[in-house]
Amino acid sequence: MKKDTKIVRAGRSAKWTNGVVNPPVVRASTVLFDSVSEMQHAAANRANQVPFYGRRGTPTTFAFADAMSELEGAKGCYVYPCGTAAITSAMLSFVKAGDHVLVVDTVYEPTRDFCDKTLSRMGVSVTYYDPMIGSGIEALMRDNTSVIFLESPGSLTMEVQDVPGICHSARQKNSDVVIVLDNTWASPIHFQPFTYGVDVSVQAATKYVAGHSDCMLGTATANARCWPTLRENSYLLGQCASPDDSYLALRGLRTIGVRLKQHQRSSLTVARWLAERPEVEAVLHPALESCPGHEFFKRDFLGGNGLFSFILKPSSPRALTAMLDSMVHFKMGFSWGGFESLILANRNVASQRTVTHWPYQGPLVRLHIGLEDVDDLIADLQAGLARYNEQQ
Ligand SMILES: *Cc1c(COP(=O)(O)O)cnc(C)c1O
Repeated sequence: MKKDTKIVRAGRSAKWTNGVVNPPVVRASTVLFDSVSEMQHAAANRANQVPFYGRRGTPTTFAFADAMSELEGAKGCYVYPCGTAAITSAMLSFVKAGDHVLVVDTVYEPTRDFCDKTLSRMGVSVTYYDPMIGSGIEALMRDNTSVIFLESPGSLTMEVQDVPGICHSARQKNSDVVIVLDNTWASPIHFQPFTYGVDVSVQAATKYVAGHSDCMLGTATANARCWPTLRENSYLLGQCASPDDSYLALRGLRTIGVRLKQHQRSSLTVARWLAERPEVEAVLHPALESCPGHEFFKRDFLGGNGLFSFILKPSSPRALTAMLDSMVHFKMGFSWGGFESLILANRNVASQRTVTHWPYQGPLVRLHIGLEDVDDLIADLQAGLARYNEQQ
């Protein structure tokens, strides 16, 4: 089956849908049993999607989990109330006091904070590594390295990692190490983590999966080796997601293929336009050659999306503020992956990494290119850069 067909079919087992197209929203804490034997059957199979108690899930969350498993090619999927909960639970499932973890230097800031503040408090040490490390990862592994965390591309600075290269060399050194990837940028359809050697793939389903900026949700999918441990530890941590949000995410997922095509086309148009502008120092878009790791994007990814960054030449904060304050379509916000365009400026990239050199002096601007007409978006940026130049 091709990708677009899979997106339409994933998770739509009659067991969950009861014969209609979408699964109903089943809100439940208590599951009722009529007999002792039914209750015993549910208890014995509670880890395998037999309705047991609300925290284990309802048909709505099971349908969404199945869809994500099928699309990412996993053994199983656990659903969390947000992407951050998926990240922290995935890591906590595979570390113990005294362990060491390797985390990419370009990681999403809250993931870094969790490592520095929570994992370190629990006696787990963290080493950050260069996103471009490739097979050099082996040299950083210690006898007690239990988890290697990747995020490709980095969601702020867009470095694309050599995921198969890292997985292969890490596995040669220690076949038990657990490799976790934040796969949010690619979504479940543009990078197939398990074929490249990843063990656990995390999605902030809040972004492109839900796709409409109206709910928070996370998923972690795993291969056969890691699935039982991930599932049981996530359950022990009390993780569970609402059926309403799972429904919204599943509904969003059905259109992810066409949405991403449009996001990708428009974002490339805008990125190429920006690359020609005199105010712009560099464009960091995985589908363009100027982006670190572009060769891995070309080799491993099935497509792109609307999220990329660019660097302005050094300028006064006033100029940037003048640009951002009056944007019409690009509103400021911390998220991305919805149907709407967004803009965000960051002057502190250098202080958010510890082992890689950040070569730029000017501010980084991250854009999410939404589904608006691309001509309107370019006109908005053009007017913004005119205000920017007036204030220089
Ligand atoms: C947004 C985001 C997360 C966190 O997801 P939430 O649902 O906001 O908790 C994790 N990783 C990346 C790359 C993200 O962009």
